[in-house]
Amino acid sequence: MNNSKTLFENAQQRIPGGVNSPVRAFRAVGGRPPFIERAKGAKIWDVEGNEYIDFVASWGPMILGHAHDKVIEAVQQAASRGTSFGANCEIEVEMADFVVNSVPSIDKVRMVNSGTEATMSAIRLARAFTGKDNIIKFEGCYHGHGDAFLSKAGSGAMTLGIPGSPGVTVATARHTLNGIYNDLESVKTLVAAHPEEFAAIIVEPVAGNMGVIPPKPEFLQGLRDIADEYHIVLIFDEVISGFRLGLGGAQQRFDVLPDITTLGKIIGGGLPVGAFGGKAEIMDLLAPLGPVYQAGTLSGNPLALTAGLTTLKILSQEGFYGQLEGKASRFFKEWAGEFDRAGIPSFSNQIGSMASAFFTAGPVHNYDQAAKSDTELFARYFRMMLAERIYLAPSQFEAMFVSAAHGEKELDQALSAHRKVLSQL
Ligand SMILES: *Cc1c(COP(=O)(O)O)cnc(C)c1O
Repeated sequence: MNNSKTLFENAQQRIPGGVNSPVRAFRAVGGRPPFIERAKGAKIWDVEGNEYIDFVASWGPMILGHAHDKVIEAVQQAASRGTSFGANCEIEVEMADFVVNSVPSIDKVRMVNSGTEATMSAIRLARAFTGKDNIIKFEGCYHGHGDAFLSKAGSGAMTLGIPGSPGVTVATARHTLNGIYNDLESVKTLVAAHPEEFAAIIVEPVAGNMGVIPPKPEFLQGLRDIADEYHIVLIFDEVISGFRLGLGGAQQRFDVLPDITTLGKIIGGGLPVGAFGGKAEIMDLLAPLGPVYQAGTLSGNPLALTAGLTTLKILSQEGFYGQLEGKASRFFKEWAGEFDRAGIPSFSNQIGSMASAFFTAGPVHNYDQAAKSDTELFARYFRMMLAERIYLAPSQFEAMFVSAAHGEKELDQALSAHRKVLSQL
């Protein structure tokens, strides 16, 4: 049988870096990534049979834990009816209903296959709607790998220290300006310098790709006000926060409504799904109603939407988020406290069931502050945690997720490993 070592060697012969998404290569933390054979609940197993407690959750989607019985059963039944029709099917209507009823700012929604597709389409729409070209994003926010977003991006770009990307034309890069997260003045300065030029402000309403950074109280409303004043489309990229911080996402939690919302991750229940939606007057610009082209061979795929919608229906059960967040808050509080007890400088951000502990005394409210983290120390910590069979994201700048499947037993086990590793660091 192939083990992780041979598999990774073989993978590197045929797949660039041995991976289909860069952070999986463990470059930022060193060591060799395990190959995963199966997952269930809060646990994953590698091909050697090692069992890990998982806090990556496939980078966010697995809020119910892995291989939830109801989701798997629904997917199996859907698969037996055919995996793709390239024609309308009922579950697309059900999914649209669910999204429109859950997310306060969405009147109409279109399904795509990834978060990247959702944000690319949202920007195109915002440009068409406003007749303007430039966009503002924020340093350390990640919006997928579309050309427009690869400047001072978070997630893998930040982890690997890639500030922009070759292959993006100068003309494209010129249209993206970066603000500072949680700093309204930085946005006002950009807008004041080019008041007629901005089509969109795109933001993660809770940042999750430079580590978790919640918005300061006035930040999101301030963006809403600026967007209104200058006729700019406000886009909330809720690919992580959507259905993570409640059915209505961050916009409901903070009571600030964007014009367009992008969704991904949880909405696919572990299959490839993204979505973007918003005000009808904007969404109706899309073909075939309007002139803005956007399409997808597998968009609205019945198998993927079945996984997604089955997941979302479970999330909508009374008390789901209260219970998850109560458990997660108690856990993360203990987690953060262990750094103090070990005398290791750190700063923790937590909101709902997502959190990050930065290896810096902090505070961490923006990219520059997050970037002060001691990534060498994090890397050592990460490898020791992995040896304790705790599977964390292989980067200081990613979120840690607690799922509904994490029981007190798993959380206690993770805490004692964390305590042990910090004491040896
Ligand atoms: C993951 C992510 C994306 C990209 O989604 P993919 O499905 O990986 O293309 C976009 N925006 C945010 C906020 C994300 O976290």
